[in-house]
Amino acid sequence: MADQFDYDVLVIGAGPGGYVAAIRAAQLGLKTACAESRETLGGTCLNVGCIPSKTLLHASHLFHEAKDGVLAKHGIKLGSVSLDLPAMLADKDAAVKGLTGGIEFLFKKNKVEWLKGLASFKDAHSVEVAGKTVTAKNIVIATGSSVTPLPGVEIDNDRGVVVDSTGALALKKVPDHLVVIGGGVIGLELGSVWGRLGAKVTVIEYLDQILPGMDGEVRKEAAKLFAKQGFEIRTGTKVTGVAVKGGKASVTVEPAAGGTAETIEADTVLVAIGRRPNTQGLGLDKIGLELNQRGQIETGPDFSTKVDGVWAVGDVIPGPMLAHKAEDEGIAVAENIAGMTGIVNHDVIPSVVYTSPEIAGVGLTEEAAREKGEVKVGKFPMMANSRAKAISATDGFVKVIADAETDRVLGVWIVADPAGTMIAQAAQAMEFGATSEDIAYTCHAHPTHNESVKEAAMAVLGKPIHM
Ligand code: FAD
Repeated sequence: MADQFDYDVLVIGAGPGGYVAAIRAAQLGLKTACAESRETLGGTCLNVGCIPSKTLLHASHLFHEAKDGVLAKHGIKLGSVSLDLPAMLADKDAAVKGLTGGIEFLFKKNKVEWLKGLASFKDAHSVEVAGKTVTAKNIVIATGSSVTPLPGVEIDNDRGVVVDSTGALALKKVPDHLVVIGGGVIGLELGSVWGRLGAKVTVIEYLDQILPGMDGEVRKEAAKLFAKQGFEIRTGTKVTGVAVKGGKASVTVEPAAGGTAETIEADTVLVAIGRRPNTQGLGLDKIGLELNQRGQIETGPDFSTKVDGVWAVGDVIPGPMLAHKAEDEGIAVAENIAGMTGIVNHDVIPSVVYTSPEIAGVGLTEEAAREKGEVKVGKFPMMANSRAKAISATDGFVKVIADAETDRVLGVWIVADPAGTMIAQAAQAMEFGATSEDIAYTCHAHPTHNESVKEAAMAVLGKPIHM
């Protein structure tokens, strides 16, 4: 297909959106290159996002279970337990190295050419990368997102006093007091890591509840569980300044609605107020591509932009900033470029908070579903699930929201030890247009956590067995 162009497809950015798009395009027989400015492939997700955070969440969970008597409760006695933080961080770095190297291997295997350097448009079919101009019939923008700064607050990840998520994945010592600005997914996950390793954690959230965008009942339950784990959660509170002196930080806060200011002393402050799309320096003005009010690139359902031959996927376009959403869009855009029909159902994108217990949801919140019409809701507590009881991890519940008339499942929310794994069942059921009755009459293995999804679906119909 390439004829007068160097490539059929040039992808800018090798995160989950970009590297997946590049591999799929190559699999479909298109001559493909991928420009990436980072030293390693895999984007935010593999380098400083999903993977290192999950490695540290796992390791810190094991440490907490060993140190704080959880294993002893199961009859496992240990001698003294101590933390080797450098080894824990090295293990995380090894996981990142292995996975980013894996993408490099997949590029070679699929004959995707990695153009190393920052890419910038010259026109709609040509891009400059590291001083060299390359042309492509199709260009996919998959440049992802970066941490949103808090005005007036300077991040210094090397010093480790005021850090962003990247810095919080590599603190050289456990802070006595960690203040997390932002009660969203990233703040709560990284707060959990350092909390389990011994830090006192204070979360400052501007809104009146943590976990914006999630189901109301889930947000309340999550706040209760984090408080039980020792988090101090201060909702309805805004940060007005952070001053650093003598290797410590003073965080000035006041009620979001206005009122008396106070100062909180911290060893480390994590700024986790969100992420913003990466579009600066891309030369979008040269191709006449404008951004929406949130700085994102708008696309059609096929991921084409207003500029012929230019496409976009992942965090740089609207929708939840999640790796699996970016990946699915990467596959779809490549298929659309190849003349196939690539579709992503944005109504069924699961989201997960990998804390303990995990928190997950897919589809509509109960509040959003009620705004659209009459619903039936079924709930089942993990306390009544035999597997959860057997392993003493009974926090949380499953909630199934169904259309009152058609019984079609509109949303599923789970707070449970393995909620991130359990939610896949709900996503698949919803993708297939399942009713709550379909789930209720599906045979689930016993004893499993997923039986709670079945029981919650039975509760929609008014007849759970174990409650
Ligand atoms: P990115 O992964 O951001 O990749 C974009 C790439 O483009 C980057 O490597 C960048 O260097 C490159 N780039 C940018 N501009 C240029 C240019 N001009 N030229 C060349 N290259 C360029 N999501 C989940 O689903 N699950 C999780 O558990 C999860 N955990 C997270 C934890 C943390 C701490 C963070 C920060 C994020 C987490 N995310 C998670 C979000 C997830 O990482 C992103 O949604 C995902 O990486 C987005 O993929 P992307 O391909 O759109 O962009």
